[in-house]
Amino acid sequence: MGSIQEVAPQLTNGTTGGANGMALKLQNNRAKTIVDAAFKGKYGIAAVCCYNVEAIVATVRAAEAKRSPALIQLFPWSIEYADGLLLHAAAEAATNASVPIGVHMDHAQSPDIIRRAADLGGFDGIMVDMSHYEREENMRLSRELVQYCNARGIITECEPGRINGCEDGIQDTEGMEEILTTPEQAEEFVGLGIDWLAPAFGNVHGEYGPRGPQLDFPRLHSIAAQVGDRVRLVLHGAHEKYFQGELIGKCIEAGMAKMNINGPVAEAYCRVGAKLVGKVPLTKVIEEQTLAMQKVIEENMDWLGSTGKA
Ligand SMILES: [Zn+2]
Repeated sequence: MGSIQEVAPQLTNGTTGGANGMALKLQNNRAKTIVDAAFKGKYGIAAVCCYNVEAIVATVRAAEAKRSPALIQLFPWSIEYADGLLLHAAAEAATNASVPIGVHMDHAQSPDIIRRAADLGGFDGIMVDMSHYEREENMRLSRELVQYCNARGIITECEPGRINGCEDGIQDTEGMEEILTTPEQAEEFVGLGIDWLAPAFGNVHGEYGPRGPQLDFPRLHSIAAQVGDRVRLVLHGAHEKYFQGELIGKCIEAGMAKMNINGPVAEAYCRVGAKLVGKVPLTKVIEEQTLAMQKVIEENMDWLGSTGKA
């Protein structure tokens, strides 16, 4: 884990094997390109957690309506549930969209699911999340899996430290100690050749306690200063109840370039379903659910400042 000076520059990040073809492949990676542009342009990319085709359609429609780039995110659950079906639908939707869209796997927490997902083809990025392991094991597994993904043209995201709270289909880290990311730890992960880094600086998944988010911005700034422009910082735990306007602006200002959007999109889908199922034809239910999710995503794109950037 060398100093900043010793680490290869951005162009060859993650390709320490030195294969020029692979460096080019990673450089042209669409998820990387989308988030790099957001970092340079000081806006954020909505990375929308999708559980079904409706959510994929809603994400693409929102992005096209807002002329905004976007990322479709799938959980490992989608692979366990339907093998590569949802993934390949997402990849096709991304390819056919009139604006830049990438496909990323969120919180892949076992070596097996990461290799399986990478081998399926279709993911532009995978979050190699070994944060539920202790530090040494986290580093060892992350190093190995980052190389595995990079060798297949897939960029990676890692989580040094541990972001608490629970997301659908994701191992709950409750009971494990929350570990805030340090600049030194961030540096170690940059050395693994990752492209995106998800810092733990007081952010949690889902709803925050009665006091709302208590974010450690000095910590975030020191992490950002340490990693420089070698990796992009990405935000987990950006529930829209708290993260609009000023707070999202502060995160972007600190260098955050991708924000995960999950709960409110799923809620819109469920709310409309609960209201309409049995009362109107199923096709109408599906269309209304898609529209409701699209509206939530569009609103987030406005907050993130990505509207009009495609
Ligand atoms: Zn997360």
